[in-house]
Amino acid sequence: MNCLYCRKPLTAVVNSRSTKDSSQIWRRRKCLNCKEVFTTHEVIDLSQLVVIKKSGKAEKYSRMKLYSGILKASQSSKVTKRELFLDKVTDEIEKEILLLKQKRVESSIIAEIVLRILRKRHTPTFLRFITYCRDISTDNQMKRELSKYLTDDKN
Ligand SMILES: [Zn+2]
Repeated sequence: MNCLYCRKPLTAVVNSRSTKDSSQIWRRRKCLNCKEVFTTHEVIDLSQLVVIKKSGKAEKYSRMKLYSGILKASQSSKVTKRELFLDKVTDEIEKEILLLKQKRVESSIIAEIVLRILRKRHTPTFLRFITYCRDISTDNQMKRELSKYLTDDKN
């Protein structure tokens, strides 16, 4: 993102929030060169996205649902500045969903994206989320699930 004033590419996000329907993200940016502050808005359009559930049922994508799922998983852990964390993670997930360039996405694919990002961002939330979205009732199932993600460490 280039500064609107001096055109230098060095800007930092100082604040961000999404609009009520979550279709836009407003960001306050500060130029690190000329120190001017300005607002941008980025459109995330997942309003047409259809999510296919495990049962085969199709439903409209909902940012709120995604957000509250991660909120639930992060509940008892000390995520500093929780709202900021949740917004950032949700934004990051939505961007990846957009990159799929699909009109219909299986919920398991979204879960993979969520897990991959949570694993990078916050391990306790990642672990709690994995038990929510996978049917895990035995040690072996848990080990198998975890090994899928832990092998990334060797790369
Ligand atoms: Zn500038």
